[in-house]
Amino acid sequence: MSKLILRYTLVAIFLIPFSAFAREIAITFDDAPTPDSALMTGMERTTKLIAALQKANVPDALFYVKADYINPQTSARLEQYTQAGFHLANHSFSHVSANELGVDAYAVDAYKAHLQLKSFDNVVMYHRFPYLHYGKELASINKLQQLLAELGYKDGYVTIDNFDWYINALLVKAAEEGKSINYERARYFYVNTLYDNIEFYDALAEKSLGRSPRHVLLLHENDAAALFVADLIEHLRNKGWKIISSQRAYQDKIAKDFPQTEFHKQGRIAAIAHAKGIPEAELRHVSEDVDYLSNAFSAAKVISD
Ligand SMILES: [Zn+2]
Repeated sequence: MSKLILRYTLVAIFLIPFSAFAREIAITFDDAPTPDSALMTGMERTTKLIAALQKANVPDALFYVKADYINPQTSARLEQYTQAGFHLANHSFSHVSANELGVDAYAVDAYKAHLQLKSFDNVVMYHRFPYLHYGKELASINKLQQLLAELGYKDGYVTIDNFDWYINALLVKAAEEGKSINYERARYFYVNTLYDNIEFYDALAEKSLGRSPRHVLLLHENDAAALFVADLIEHLRNKGWKIISSQRAYQDKIAKDFPQTEFHKQGRIAAIAHAKGIPEAELRHVSEDVDYLSNAFSAAKVISD
């Protein structure tokens, strides 16, 4: 073996473990197309979000559509996402909890969204329950899974839950009250809070599955995402994560085994862990709490008068 070949062989052996063990994560956004806020219009949000995802070289992003938000103006935003190569999926029509609506009314609601989505390109057949409410008891949960499967849908589960919607609400409230936002601090708060959630659910996966699955991150199509998602992605990559498409993530083995539990509201990993007997108290990250986040947000001094 020549010295050169030996050197390349050693380099290859050295590099393989890093690529083989890169943890993988897909990015999804719920509640698209969300209306205007005090921080930005929906159009501005869509433009910023697309620019951020493209700048970050994200291979794909999946937008779960709340179909009663669709009107002639907002459908142009959904088309902007699909023209940028991203995908759309079903997040119900009215965004009412399946636990409240019950099996039949929820199925009708999801079907209404299904009909509305038909006119768009790049729709993939995944359905995600609002609030991750899959139904009240196991029989209704399984019945809804069956009805959605008959419509052609697979479960658009998440593996990483978080309260990004609440961080966004705190920022929008500050804007509504005319307070000034320190964007650097807001960025730091958003990235670190969400990264803690990601590590928490990955550790829970190691504990309950014995491995790191292809993750699906739950985010919302909100202002905080438009402002900071590129920073979150950069942070993930710095920590050795690889950004993948949702379609690739949903090929993980965990997609095939629907956990037989009533506990779905913290995502698929928590559901699997619950079905394996890990107590509920261990299935939720500390930041998935409005009071905790409010206090942490104040302490981070993001907002000033
Ligand atoms: Zn939602």
